[in-house]
Amino acid sequence: MVAATTTTLKVGVLALQGAFIEHIHMLNNLAEVSEAIPVRTIEQLNSVDALIIPGGESTAMALIAERCQLLEPLRAFVKEKPTWGTCAGMIMLANEASSAKKGGQQLIGGMGIRVNRNQFGTQKDSFGIGLHMPEIVGEEPFHAVFIRAPVITDILSDDVKVLARLEKQVGETKAETIVAVRQNNLFATAFHPELTRDDRLHKFFVNMAIECYNNKQ
Ligand code: GLN
Repeated sequence: MVAATTTTLKVGVLALQGAFIEHIHMLNNLAEVSEAIPVRTIEQLNSVDALIIPGGESTAMALIAERCQLLEPLRAFVKEKPTWGTCAGMIMLANEASSAKKGGQQLIGGMGIRVNRNQFGTQKDSFGIGLHMPEIVGEEPFHAVFIRAPVITDILSDDVKVLARLEKQVGETKAETIVAVRQNNLFATAFHPELTRDDRLHKFFVNMAIECYNNKQ
């Protein structure tokens, strides 16, 4: 007998702060997404199969999540369910963050990575660049938009797979940093893929999530 397989998912986008609408628009255009909803409550979180944590401001997002009593439910969610953090969302998913807010900031955690916030400077230092990510989007480069973006400075677990690196001229030297990783059901990118018209990364995440469910059966 062939096991029943999942082919569509209900996907949530954490909507406490930041660029969540753009993710919802992109998800709504994918055949594999039955519904895409903003997530602001525990009930909404419990109703989705997979979650995107968007870019924005990780300090503000953490404070609001704490106030809405969503931090612990989010920590439980990411232990099991497919979740993708973009930019500030990647910071939220990291187990450790440098250049954190004075006095520290709450993270959801779950990924064995250390990130450094605001690696490339302020808003005016934002940039877009073609990233080569053959394992996830094929040979054609993906135009990645970096806005006060973090990078991954350390990999803290053997389960973390590096999916994209960025080579950037910093002063006299070219420095290479890690900007996309996967750890089992968790995916993180340092940039904003929802600000382009290219939905290849959203497709990758939804297919990754479907695969997570089908492999569990
Ligand atoms: N610098 C922001 C932070 O630390 C992230 C920026 C972004 O999400 N575009 O949370």
